[in-house]
Order: sequence, then C-alpha cells, then structure tokens
Amino acid sequence: MHYSWTKSRNSWGVAINKWLRSTLIAVVVTALMMSACSAPQESLYKEQILVFGTLVDVSFWGADPALAQRASVELHQLFERIHSRWHAWQPGMLMRINERLAASHSIAVDDDAMALLRRSAELSRASGGLFDPAIGQLIALWGFHNSDLPQGPPPAAQQLEQLVALQPSMADLQFADGRLSSTSSAVQLDMGGVAKGYAIDLAIAKMRELGISNGIVNAGGDLRAIGRRGERPWRIGIRNPRGDGAIAAIEVRGDESIFTSGDYERFYQYEGRRYHHIIDPRSGYPAQGTRSVTVIHSDATTADAAATALFVAGPSQWRQVAAAMGIEQVMIIDSSGEISMTAAMKERVVLLNGER
Ligand code: ADP
Ligand code: MG
Repeated sequence: MHYSWTKSRNSWGVAINKWLRSTLIAVVVTALMMSACSAPQESLYKEQILVFGTLVDVSFWGADPALAQRASVELHQLFERIHSRWHAWQPGMLMRINERLAASHSIAVDDDAMALLRRSAELSRASGGLFDPAIGQLIALWGFHNSDLPQGPPPAAQQLEQLVALQPSMADLQFADGRLSSTSSAVQLDMGGVAKGYAIDLAIAKMRELGISNGIVNAGGDLRAIGRRGERPWRIGIRNPRGDGAIAAIEVRGDESIFTSGDYERFYQYEGRRYHHIIDPRSGYPAQGTRSVTVIHSDATTADAAATALFVAGPSQWRQVAAAMGIEQVMIIDSSGEISMTAAMKERVVLLNGER
C-alpha cells in the first residue's frame, strides 16, 4: 500500500500532516464512481475546509446535497470561531483569559468555554497532570508560540527549572458564577493538546443536529467518524514517525475517534538533538522515550488529550495512565522504533511490514 503526504504547519502551532489526502481522494473517487451506478443515498459529499492554518477534510455520506453544502458552511464557521477563541498566541478570548490570570484577576467566561476548561481540568487530573494545559509559560519559553519553528538553542535550564518549580496546574483553576480565576498566577493556558479534538467533537455534534448521520471529520490524520461510509469500512493509515509511509492501518468502526501525537509534528534540531513540542510538565523538557502514540476512543476531546498524556507518560508509564484515563485502545512507538499496543488495539491494527 502506498501513502504519501505533504506537510503544512497550522497556526495553533501544530504541524499537520496531509498524508491521508491521497488515500482520501482515492476513496472519494471510488465512492463517486460507485454512486454513479448505484442508489443516490450512496452518494458522497466531500469538502476541504481551510482553518487552523491547515485543511480539514469533511465528508458526508447519503446526505441531500443542499443539506451537505449548508452543513459544510456551518462547520467552517464553527472551526473559525474555535480557532479565534482558543488560539494561544493570537489576540482573542484565550489571550484575554491568560492576561487576567497572570494578573491574579478573575474573568467572565461563557458556558461553552467553561465546559471545555472544566473537561480539560478533569482530563488533566485523570492523567496525573501529564496532560497539563496550564503549562503555557513553558511552551512559550520553548518558542512554540510562533507559527515559525524555533531555531534553538533550547531555553536555559535554570529558566525551565524556575517555571517547573511553580507547578502550574489545571487544579489551580476556580470556576464560580461564570467567572474563572486561578490560585496561581503561574497558570497560562495552552489548549493545543486538546483543541483539535474539541473542534472535531463540536463538528460531529453540529452534523448530527443538522440531520447528517454518516460522515468523517479529519484534521491531518486526527479524526472522528460517525455512521457508515457505504459498504466498506474506512481504512486509515498511521504515519511512520520516522520516514515516509504508513506504519499501520486501522479500519474505523461506527462512531469513534483516532488521534496521534508525535515528536515529528513540530520540532527543531540543535547540536544533533531533537526538541519537539510535547513538554513533560515534570521536567520542563520535551517528553523523552516516545516517537508517537495513537489512541482510539469514542470522543475526540478525550482521544486528543489522552494521546498527548500518553506521549508524556512514555514507554514505562503509558499503560497505567491509559487505565487511569479509561483509554483501552493505544499504540505506542518508542524512541527505538519498537511498537507496543493494548490487547484491544491489537485487534484493530494491521502492521504494514517492510515500511518501518
Ligand atoms: P498535535 O496536535 O501536534 O498532533 P498534541 O495533541 O499532542 O499534538 O498537542 C501538542 C500541543 O499541546 C503542543 O503544541 C502544545 O501546544 C500543547 N502541549 C505540549 N505539551 C503539553 C502537555 N504536557 N499537556 C498539555 N498540552 C501540551
Ligand atoms: Mg493531543
């Protein structure tokens, strides 16, 4: 099987791989050909939405064309709204929140924002603080709050130690009467580890609300699908974290989300060392020992946060953290290229030999 991709960087600070596109196009072409000679409800509507500085692939099956078009316009608006509200370093809601928290003030936050912050705090607690959107200062210090990748050198150890010692945590957040505050002024929120999943969950909810029950929303390989895509299951590739091609294939079943966190998404090399964008809150440094983690779970918000958390947990702790977060399907590729999986994931994954 041949997969190809191009890379583009999204402005959440995430380099999104477009490697699924060729696969998707092949499937779409096949589906369109099939629909030409079968019942109209087999038809596929496909749109690429440019948002978050990347292309999000949205596909619907069996939807009335006018409804499909309306839905894709609504999804576009939804993604734009999430993007401008949650961006970590462009002016918007999250920047206003961070300014207030840094000044030890409270700020009025609407119900939607409150819901995501509470959910993120729960996920952070379940992960034992390995998924920690409160470490925005660390991520900024590493230079990842920029659409261009940092050049190095890495930040001074002393500066990192100082931030780690402050122990910013989602548990510092307080939610009361529609206002958000923090008991620590060291908390700076960076939702990059969960915002894509959140956006995809809201997109799926919007599709259902509009009456679309079959479809897929795919942001560069991180996706959630609902319903069916016709006769055959959807087959997606998991990127080889070193080199081109896919390392594994998974068939998507019904309503589920598949998310991968990898050290190849955003990184720079300095004096022969790789510094990537997933930071271990315990050390202040990019998490060691892992190349990529793939999680399958029902909702995308949880899958996204869990992939980040398990990446930080690494080869020695991921099983324990996955259990604590209620995640059953996990595949991890460690820094020597070795693949480990839960039993439930083993049933799902086809390893593509010879492409490692
Ligand atoms: P990607 O979306 O690039 O595939 P992730 O979902 O793992 O990868 O998100 C990485 C982003 O999450 C980083 O760019 C940063 O904004 C944020 N982040 C980094 N480390 C952590 C962490 N330990 N907990 C929560 N968010 C993190
Ligand atoms: Mg994530």
